[in-house]
Amino acid sequence: MGRIHSVESFGTLDGPGIRYVLFLQGCPLRCLYCHNPDSWCIKSGQEIGSVDVVKDILRYKNFIKNGGVTLSGGEPLMQADFAASILEGCKQHGLHTAVDTSGGVSLLICRRAVELADMLLLDIKAADDALFRKITGHSINNTLEMLEACENMRKPIWIRHVLVPGLTMDDKQLKALGELLAHYSCIERVELLPFHKMGEFKWEQLGKPYTLGDTQPPESEQVEHARSLLRGFGLPVK
Ligand code: SF4
Repeated sequence: MGRIHSVESFGTLDGPGIRYVLFLQGCPLRCLYCHNPDSWCIKSGQEIGSVDVVKDILRYKNFIKNGGVTLSGGEPLMQADFAASILEGCKQHGLHTAVDTSGGVSLLICRRAVELADMLLLDIKAADDALFRKITGHSINNTLEMLEACENMRKPIWIRHVLVPGLTMDDKQLKALGELLAHYSCIERVELLPFHKMGEFKWEQLGKPYTLGDTQPPESEQVEHARSLLRGFGLPVK
């Protein structure tokens, strides 16, 4: 059994093709810009068994046969055994699987789920540990170990990185990210995501202080600048 936050049966943003995206409950990080703070608590959400999840996924098999299934969150690897059972079930039915993760959970807990996934969407909050801690409240170590493990497993990765003015939208930080990522041949794509405030109201509803209220989304020129800066490191930036 596990706990889920929500389902998107025709997702087009989280991995290749049209995908069934399952958002799992629970996250160990506390990102300042999180747009799903209601997914943090692992005890909330709907309780469901992995067999029933896979049954529901199969209702959409024809629509997602050229795409697949993405486990997202929250942090899907926080419920590692539940995630692994779902991935196993998808595999048995020939469905492509992706895990959308921050890498924030130790591989000691989630290695099996990572091995089962066909690919990872790895959201790296920052390359610099001090900035990573400032954004998430945690060290970057688990995320770096995840990158290294995927390289060793030859697991394809799409990197995601949120551009936040005043935090990550900074040449020095972007260069540090470029230098880090340039070492990994398992990276097939790098997606830069402009910061937005669509989740701010959820913070208010939960009575949690949102500290980025005065931060504006980056201008399109700034996003393009960040893209070309990372392309300079030979990275496949989209
Ligand atoms: S890892 Fe994702 S779900 Fe968790 S706090 Fe950060 S943005 Fe929110």
